[in-house]
Amino acid sequence: MSANKTTTTGQGGDKPSEEMLTEATRVPLWDPEHDDVLVCRQVRQETHDVKTFVFSGREPRDFRYSPGQFMTFELPVEGMVTRCYTISASAARPYRLEITVKRVPGGPGSNWLHDYMVPGKEVNVSGPGGEFTTDATSDEKLLFISAGSGITPMMSMTRTACDLSEPTDLHFVHAARTPSDLIFRDELSLLASQNPGLKVSLTCDSTSASHSWTGFSGRLSLQMLSLMSPDFKDRKIFCCGPGRFMDGVRDMLREAGFDMEKYYEESFDFGAETAGTFEEHSSVAPEISGQTFRVSFSKTGHVVECSPGMTILSAAREAGLLPLSSCQRGICGTCKSKLNSGEVDMQHGGGIRQREIDQGKILICCSTPLSDVEVEL
Ligand SMILES: Cc1cc2nc3c(=O)[nH]c(=O)nc-3n(C[C@H](O)[C@H](O)[C@H](O)COP(=O)(O)OP(=O)(O)OC[C@H]3O[C@@H](n4cnc5c(N)ncnc54)[C@H](O)[C@@H]3O)c2cc1C
Repeated sequence: MSANKTTTTGQGGDKPSEEMLTEATRVPLWDPEHDDVLVCRQVRQETHDVKTFVFSGREPRDFRYSPGQFMTFELPVEGMVTRCYTISASAARPYRLEITVKRVPGGPGSNWLHDYMVPGKEVNVSGPGGEFTTDATSDEKLLFISAGSGITPMMSMTRTACDLSEPTDLHFVHAARTPSDLIFRDELSLLASQNPGLKVSLTCDSTSASHSWTGFSGRLSLQMLSLMSPDFKDRKIFCCGPGRFMDGVRDMLREAGFDMEKYYEESFDFGAETAGTFEEHSSVAPEISGQTFRVSFSKTGHVVECSPGMTILSAAREAGLLPLSSCQRGICGTCKSKLNSGEVDMQHGGGIRQREIDQGKILICCSTPLSDVEVEL
């Protein structure tokens, strides 16, 4: 029996070869075109209203994703709602996914997850998607600014950098309402103590008797940021948090004369008017020319003229329809609809699978007609 083939490892037996180990431990890649079910493996209570849900595939899968990306979940509540959740885990531990979800009062998706997602339960997902990512082991000086559940993409990027080597020069600023709302407080403190390239600064709007607090107090201001991170103007900044928090950060940075070309943000509220989901704050509206086409909606019988550059979602709204939509950038998949006839130019960002396109489905938020079209809406 050759050394490569034996499986006996008794006294004086052969060691398994590297090739055998690789074969034995090879886990198939998660293929977003075909894989769409996650199984919950564990639930962790992070704070009084935040839980982390750990998932893997039905069979082991290697999830390749960039830290900061999100998955879109189909949750069986109110019929069906789709919600995006950033993967909070380290991308360097690719066999399981974790999401960290804040319970939003009255919100169907987050409450369903908190109340019904338990180990063993399965959920349909698509993704990963999104472009909000950076490599914290690169030579760039980075500043992460987050608030509330906006900590999740920053946490994934930080955990990944710490797993892969060490953040080179990363300052992580996080704001919470009270010390009891601080997510990942202990882990951030541990990571900072083990990684000299990582500095963590926390601030709480207010303190409470039940949780000790000796850190910064009050809302993040320019003065506070300058104390926490005196060289913040030399850094590339990534920001995520509630809309008003990000509005405040942007105003503060502009006031300080920060070069906004180095500012990146992710909004958890796709409908926010103030900012895109992930954008560098410099955009010029393109000039649009072309033909006007007719869009018919088969279920309601509405017909509307779609001018050049107008998406089918905008046309539907013009017709008085309110189709489900979320990101408006072709990444979350909420507005998936059937194209009954005609041709469209669909510039999606990963929110639809090739097999769905082959079945005649489109995302109406990022599809513009190339002919008269009929959509099943
Ligand atoms: C790309 C992306 C990534 C996301 N990642 C995460 C994540 O990692 N963790 C997480 O908890 N959520 C995340 N979200 C938000 C999440 O998708 C849901 O919007 C959220 O869980 C609320 O859903 P819901 O159905 O419970 O309530 P909804 O019906 O969506 O919202 C109810 C009300 O609460 C407001 N609201 C929605 N989300 C929040 C929030 N996070 N904080 C405060 N108010 C809110 C809404 O504007 C609305 O008024 C992400 C969203 C996007 C677009």
